[in-house]
Amino acid sequence: MSENSFEHFETRAIRTQVPRSQQREHAVPIYTTSSFVFDDAEQARAMFASEIEGNIYSRYSNPNNDEFIKKLCLLEGTEAGISTASGMAAMFMSIASFVKSGDHVLASRSLFGSTHQILTQLLPRWGITYTYVDWQDLDKWEQHITPQTKMIFVESPSNPGLDLLDLQKLGKLAEAHNLILNVDNCFATPYIQNPIKWGAHIVTHSATKFIDGQGRVLGGAILGSEDLIKEVQFLARHTGPAMSPFHGWILSKSLETLAVRMDRHCANALALAERLSEEPEVAWVKYPHLPSHPHYELAKKQMKLGGGLLTFELKGSQARAVRFLDALQMISLTANLGDTRSIITHPASTTHSKLTPEERLKVSITDGLLRLSAGLEHIEDIWSDVSQAIQSSK
Ligand SMILES: *Cc1c(COP(=O)(O)O)cnc(C)c1O
Repeated sequence: MSENSFEHFETRAIRTQVPRSQQREHAVPIYTTSSFVFDDAEQARAMFASEIEGNIYSRYSNPNNDEFIKKLCLLEGTEAGISTASGMAAMFMSIASFVKSGDHVLASRSLFGSTHQILTQLLPRWGITYTYVDWQDLDKWEQHITPQTKMIFVESPSNPGLDLLDLQKLGKLAEAHNLILNVDNCFATPYIQNPIKWGAHIVTHSATKFIDGQGRVLGGAILGSEDLIKEVQFLARHTGPAMSPFHGWILSKSLETLAVRMDRHCANALALAERLSEEPEVAWVKYPHLPSHPHYELAKKQMKLGGGLLTFELKGSQARAVRFLDALQMISLTANLGDTRSIITHPASTTHSKLTPEERLKVSITDGLLRLSAGLEHIEDIWSDVSQAIQSSK
């Protein structure tokens, strides 16, 4: 990787790259190769013995994936990292690498659906238990820590509730009890929030969302200190959740534009949140950098911008929400977020339909809640679609 000492996020995201080959290319090529050739038998021996660094086999490392991860490490402020085929591979590996039978994980209740399945259905098969804590009870988290607790796993802002957790408080709690604090930073991206700065030990990403930003590929990342990532590398090397070099190439290119894209995602989301707040047909709006958000002060402290997502509810609850969705003409109804295209979902009837209404309320999902991922279209075009659908769904 070309060594760079650039100080700023944007430059790091653009100028961290695989050294130029003899072809003198400006853009980095895609290394679609399963393995790498050794100069001689001694080099092969030394690389397998980890005496010298170098690529051996693309399940262990690949130049495109390494470039992607090197950049993300610089952007999140960590020493090391590993890329994975999807965000869920990252979530699973980032927990499974640090727990064994008998251990316990403390987690916030508001988690991405598949992370919830890992904690509640899969890890218990191997004797690993969990306790959920509500964001409202942060001061009570400590009483759920047992001698078997190894990790605290959280998302902030949460999906789709957009609740925030005080990462600095959690960092101190983890420190006091010698636990690993693992933060899924997918919603904020490293441009908006750096959990490491507040005391997190592991930062995980679904790169599928804002990092790709164009709805093309799946990818994930686990970032942390060299010591911790070594543990993850062991599991990854022998179980094979490796990212495709093609996806590594795409995602590394995507990081080049993350800062400018996030600025626009956030500006559009804030504008939508402000306009919706003034609409008489809207029951409520939630956006981290809107003063009405329950954790506005915390959002201002730990998030540079408010993020690309907002939630709101129209008067008339679920039936109205459904009529509104069907009236939209441009905004996509699809199960993704963080795309150039604005996307809307109704969690109560889709991603969170298996929860009871009471369970949904615990994670701030009302029956009429709509989650909007603000895209990069012109704000007036997004707004005119939203406002015509509000009117025709009355
Ligand atoms: C999408 C998402 C994931 C899972 O990522 P995939 O790339 O879809 O596997 C994990 N956490 C959060 C917060 C997400 O939004």
